[in-house]
Amino acid sequence: MKKKAVGSRHSAFRFILSAILYALSAILLFSGCQKQDRLFKKERNLMHTFVTITVVSNSEKEAEKAIDAGFDEIKRLEGLLNYFSPESELSAINRAAGKSPVKVSPSTLDAIRKALYISGITGGAFDPAIGPVIKLWKFSEPDTEHVIPSKDVIANALKVIDYKKIKINEAASEIYLEAEGMELDLGGIAKGYAADKAIDVIKAKGIKAALVAIAGDIRGYGLKPDGEAWRVGVQNPRPKYDKEPPSLKKGGEGESPDEILTSLYLADKAISTSGDYERFFTKEGKRYHHIIDPRTGYPSDSKLISVSVIAPHGYVSDGISTGIFVLGAQKGIALLEFMGLDGIMVDSDMKVYLTRGLKGKVEIPAGFR
Ligand code: ADP
Ligand code: MG
Repeated sequence: MKKKAVGSRHSAFRFILSAILYALSAILLFSGCQKQDRLFKKERNLMHTFVTITVVSNSEKEAEKAIDAGFDEIKRLEGLLNYFSPESELSAINRAAGKSPVKVSPSTLDAIRKALYISGITGGAFDPAIGPVIKLWKFSEPDTEHVIPSKDVIANALKVIDYKKIKINEAASEIYLEAEGMELDLGGIAKGYAADKAIDVIKAKGIKAALVAIAGDIRGYGLKPDGEAWRVGVQNPRPKYDKEPPSLKKGGEGESPDEILTSLYLADKAISTSGDYERFFTKEGKRYHHIIDPRTGYPSDSKLISVSVIAPHGYVSDGISTGIFVLGAQKGIALLEFMGLDGIMVDSDMKVYLTRGLKGKVEIPAGFR
């Protein structure tokens, strides 16, 4: 009896043990089958440009959900901040210039607050009140016969270009443009800002690494499945073989070596490039590009043809790169080094300027100085 009892206890024990072993091996087997982290990538046209989102995930479904959430966020911000859409909150602010404050959503308030921060640190070289002058140059209308606006027309538009006349009422969530005729244009910061926000929603979906590229405004976080940081290319501002309009280029992979100025690792950071090749027209051999000096109303003549800035956030890299295009190389390098940021600039003599932090770390191809 006693023996039998022991025996049955023994077999119960064996049963439990084998059940545990079975469960363990099932777990091991399952984790063996569990998919490895992979890269998932999708592309879309948003904000009048080419957007790609890449995420690291072990599940296609999760990756897809996160990528779509990122695109949705960019679309939402485009809806709020689009200068050209009469339905955007930005247009409502512009219509009420000199008349009344406009109540806006937290995202619009935040984007304008950040734009003003960039204006402050660039001493107004970046000015989101640039709208009335930008409008005159019609850079966004590639098919029009471009005419250089007259001096008088530019001088008149310049009167209302002053970021200090943009008033934010935080408590009421209102924006007021103090002078009639003022117009905000966030084209110099919106893409970097949207890349930041897309990254935020992708992170919130539990994704451990992602890269959001809105044309030349790229924000990354985390590491790729191979443990490396994201590698991004900086476009050569004067490639020899320019087959395709630059706005359609993806930046990074698959380009001929000549199309890349240099490439660098981007971990939890953003990089933005402003170039005179993005949007421009040529008249009598002179290039008129879309980055305007707010002091003159004419395309900036700082000699810079390309400015890339690396910063913790996309709104900083985007806004500052546009501002530095106006400030020029010396002031630009000084500003970046003062702020502890990095950057690469190229001038019209193909001279390359690097911040201290990048010297000796990036390769510059032949043909540049
Ligand atoms: P891209 O839009 O080609 O990526 P940028 O980020 O440099 O390049 O932004 C250029 C856009 O910024 C212009 O199309 C215009 O809408 C706006 N802009 C031009 N000059 C200025 C300026 N001095 N300050 C702020 N925004 C500007
Ligand atoms: Mg910019």
